[in-house]
Amino acid sequence: MSYIEPHAHMVSRTTDDYERLALAGCEALCEPAFWAGFDRSSAAGFYDYFRQLTEYEPKRAARYGIKHFCWLCINPKEADDPGFAREVMALIPEFIGRENVLGIGEIGLNKNTRNELKIFEEHVQIALDYDLPVLIHTPHLEDKLKGTKLILDSLSNFSKLDHSKVIIDHVEEHTVAHVLDAGYWAGMTLYPESKCTPNRAIDILEVYGSENIWMNSACDWGVSDPMAVPKCALEMKRRKHSPEMIRKVTFDNPAKFLSQSPRFKL
Ligand SMILES: [Zn+2]
Repeated sequence: MSYIEPHAHMVSRTTDDYERLALAGCEALCEPAFWAGFDRSSAAGFYDYFRQLTEYEPKRAARYGIKHFCWLCINPKEADDPGFAREVMALIPEFIGRENVLGIGEIGLNKNTRNELKIFEEHVQIALDYDLPVLIHTPHLEDKLKGTKLILDSLSNFSKLDHSKVIIDHVEEHTVAHVLDAGYWAGMTLYPESKCTPNRAIDILEVYGSENIWMNSACDWGVSDPMAVPKCALEMKRRKHSPEMIRKVTFDNPAKFLSQSPRFKL
């Protein structure tokens, strides 16, 4: 198979993972800016991180024939201090025009605080100003439903926002309908322990259909699996989904959403 991994944090993975991804058929990979497993002590830490996302990782991926794309922002985990967050956001214009930058993400909420929401909205405005798509992270576990509703309420205040250029990631059974019904794209994250397992993700596809939805591994520094998407594809095959359906959710859908960014070319 060939597929797109639309959400992976490769800065925290080894080069062997790139090789495994390539062997599994990964053609393109997208890396949203996020927490690095620790809080950075200054905006300069993000300057280096944005260089890593736009200079170093594309080269590391290219050695295995994988196209590397990224998204820029300050993630919600480090966005609760607005002064600090704005220092980081001031770096975005210097990087936003680079050739592998797709848009703004993954922004969103972590603890659903007022400061996080304010910084979230300022990021959405940056995406509107540059006419680029947005990738949104939703909080974990018990905060997820409340955080998703806060995000949807906030987005509804942006009258110029094209809903089809926004993907809300880490949906689960109790949030997916809220996202799709409002006209946004939905992402399902396949984690070995938390978030969706492959079988839960396939259940969601069987209930809610395969329009405007993708799946990703969101592999990072924690317990996660870069092979989650091909493993889920294998499980779909075992559950008698057609090759067309598998191709749709693992390749065609991500390609369709991502092609809304002028930088996404395979
Ligand atoms: Zn992520």
